[in-house]
Amino acid sequence: MPISPQLHADVERKLTQSREDLLGAVRARVYGDDPAIGPGAHTAQNEDRPQAEMISHNEEHLADHESALLHEIDAALGRLESGGYGICVECGREIAEQRLLATPTVQTCIECQERLEKKQMRATGRPPQI
Ligand SMILES: [Zn+2]
Repeated sequence: MPISPQLHADVERKLTQSREDLLGAVRARVYGDDPAIGPGAHTAQNEDRPQAEMISHNEEHLADHESALLHEIDAALGRLESGGYGICVECGREIAEQRLLATPTVQTCIECQERLEKKQMRATGRPPQI
């Protein structure tokens, strides 16, 4: 178990909340304020998932940054389920709990991020190849 059950629960809650906030904003924009599908209509996350999936597969409604964020959130949730969450994709070491709590979608430890940022700066404007 790479992360503690407490951290798992906290991060999962944050990711699920971020996902709901994002999709709620998209829903409101695409469908208006229909109470049947509005953010207040759900009571449990399991009931809310099918709507979220429906929208997430309808990506023409998502702005680029929203689509990218949703992919990050889904990838993080997937890693939580598969047990790979909290492991740096660059060096394979555990990512600090505070870092995961601050940015639940993060995939690298602080050392690797700093290294990648320096590399990116040297490459003058090219995005990091993760
Ligand atoms: Zn690392």
